[in-house]
Amino acid sequence: MLYRRGHLGYGDPAGSRKLFMPSPDSDRYEREEAMFLVDTHCHLNVEYYPDGLSKVFENALKCDVKRMLFASADLPSTREAVDFAEKHEGLPEIWALAGVHPHEASSVADGITAELEELARSSKVSAVGEIGLDYFYDNSPRDIQREVFRSQIRLAKKINKPVVIHVRDSADRSSGDANSETLAILKEESAETVGGVIHCFSGDAQNARDALDLGFYISFAGPVTYPKNIALREIAMDIVPIDRILCETDSPYLAPQHIRGKTNEPCHVRDVYEMISMLRGMSLEDFAEAVKENGERLFGWKGYSDV
Ligand SMILES: [Zn+2]
Ligand SMILES: [Zn+2]
Repeated sequence: MLYRRGHLGYGDPAGSRKLFMPSPDSDRYEREEAMFLVDTHCHLNVEYYPDGLSKVFENALKCDVKRMLFASADLPSTREAVDFAEKHEGLPEIWALAGVHPHEASSVADGITAELEELARSSKVSAVGEIGLDYFYDNSPRDIQREVFRSQIRLAKKINKPVVIHVRDSADRSSGDANSETLAILKEESAETVGGVIHCFSGDAQNARDALDLGFYISFAGPVTYPKNIALREIAMDIVPIDRILCETDSPYLAPQHIRGKTNEPCHVRDVYEMISMLRGMSLEDFAEAVKENGERLFGWKGYSDV
């Protein structure tokens, strides 16, 4: 039922409404008009959800989360994400990322493997990611992080898919500014030719403007709901245009305020949608529709269910 509804609704929302001739008290009308929320970044690996994903997916569908992008962090997790996305059917739709996180950059210091490229070429892989620079943990040496980041941008250009960027500054930026360096590398490598998103955005207003100027999208996660993150909420409210916003959980990390400290899961992306729609004075429905279109534009998801 859910799948069929998604199928009919695609690409022609006005048409689908006409098709069902809804009456206000019709149960079918209620379901037809239900929202379609997308979690554009979640780690669904079995190590995080040892009891499997059926309950996670059930919870997500109850919250109208019907599409997820399964993030990857190294070669083994890319294998898992691509394999899962290729085998999974129905709702929620599952798409995958293929890429090596800056934490794991040392694992591919000798170069990006042919296997990673092959995985990235899967039709279920929407982008190369997550890739970038992390100067907070410095789990891999910075020069290796930079090289691996550059080589994966080149991979994305070679296979013509966007990039999903992870960037985190050192605690006080005294030992390097990861956000500025990331932007510089994206520019030097002409990453704007494939485009992408700064996932779980944590930079300042200028970092956001720079990424937007390069044509990138900005994705917000649970931290936008934390009481202290006023500056981040101002960026979500005033700086990022409505056609450049994405929402995510980064599950199992970064649970939103109401379950902070617990294991996150994609259903809680709804908190992020609720917060930003409220900040922007939009209905949740209108905001969700805009974000859905943004994801479809960036990741090429439009029309998937019509195929
Ligand atoms: Zn990340
Ligand atoms: Zn992540």
